[in-house]
Amino acid sequence: MKFFVSYFGCRANQAEIQEWIIDLENAGYQLTPHQEEADFGILNTCSVTEHAEKEVLRFIGKTYRRSDTPWVVTGCSVSNDNGQLREKYKNYIFVPNAEKGGLVETVKEAFPVEENIIYHSAFRSRIFLKIQDGCNFRCSYCIVPFLRGKSISIPADEVVKRAKHYAALGYKEIVLSGINLSSYGYDLFPRENLLNVIKRIHAIKHIEFIRLSSLDPRYIDYSFVRELSYLEKIADSFHFSFQSGSNQVLNRMKRGSKVYDYKRIMDIFRHYFPDANYGADFIVAFPDETEREFQETIEFVGESILTYMHIFPFSPREGTKAALMDTEPIPQNIVKKRLAELKEINRNIRIAYREKFIGKVLEGILIEENENYSLVITSNFLTVRIPPLKGYKRRKIKVKIQRIVNDNICEGVLARRAPTRQQKQG
Ligand code: SF4
Repeated sequence: MKFFVSYFGCRANQAEIQEWIIDLENAGYQLTPHQEEADFGILNTCSVTEHAEKEVLRFIGKTYRRSDTPWVVTGCSVSNDNGQLREKYKNYIFVPNAEKGGLVETVKEAFPVEENIIYHSAFRSRIFLKIQDGCNFRCSYCIVPFLRGKSISIPADEVVKRAKHYAALGYKEIVLSGINLSSYGYDLFPRENLLNVIKRIHAIKHIEFIRLSSLDPRYIDYSFVRELSYLEKIADSFHFSFQSGSNQVLNRMKRGSKVYDYKRIMDIFRHYFPDANYGADFIVAFPDETEREFQETIEFVGESILTYMHIFPFSPREGTKAALMDTEPIPQNIVKKRLAELKEINRNIRIAYREKFIGKVLEGILIEENENYSLVITSNFLTVRIPPLKGYKRRKIKVKIQRIVNDNICEGVLARRAPTRQQKQG
């Protein structure tokens, strides 16, 4: 029996989808990349912004109109729904976040299989491993803690078991993800922490890279970064949850951090990972954001080590403090202008970062072989096209960067040697 998957939103959602694919393939189901030949579909949804929720509803509506294939729909949009989805899409199965853990069982009951064949879609080299869910914070704009509940971590032994399983399936890169990844282990007894679990995964043979999804500045300290730098498999790309470069805005967002904290963290990372690719999330036009506050964000980015940004316009989510703020909405033309300004800066810093590597050798995993070129994702998360190379898929190779095609793609050639992080640090 064939199934198709789709998801919206964060890396935690992507990680869940990948886990379900593996479990379902082990249970005799076959993943198909073609929606039209699937016997059923699985959709993991997102409500983090109003825009994301609209996209989800549009997707469900379109899928429902196009075919009578049943779908199992889960995620934040289902938890956020007051019964309208169930009412409207009768042959769909809706699984709220609280019951996500039993999704594979729900699928098995709804779509039983007889076959004993185990399928394995060996098409990827990178897998998201979700080790934490939920969040104990209450940032004023964020609906996620209401939909996913308090922070819950997967015990370290179980995380390591899953990582070993993925390594045995041939995955070369593990992306550790969570809703608030940095809070990993605080809810466990005995207490655990992110660094310990990373070290244990680092010891697993055949895992070449460990990438960390978004890091919360509140949990980062000097020794965490220094210890990371001793681990060769830690990928040279990091993402921070910053949201603004203005203290006043951060205050209204109830972020619990100041611009000073962000700068201090970036100084530590700059010291230990001088060549890394650094990203951060930013919300534009948060309630009452003045031109001066917005310019503070621009100045902050200009002085930072950031090499890319994820930029979102503010959208009020019902039930959050920010949605209740008694403020005049920022006019749409100003929102658009600020978004455009930040996006332009984003494009420039992305290109400037890539240009730094022209003539340099980087390590990466070959993820795609085509007739005309092969595609490599490097440790610092550059996408590099090289001349076609057969028989190297999912292998770690070294590439020399020759040209920047755009702010996303570089071109290069197979290279002989890349210095290790320790060699670079002297
Ligand atoms: S840290 Fe803030 S933004 Fe992130 S999930 Fe928790 S409440 Fe939401």
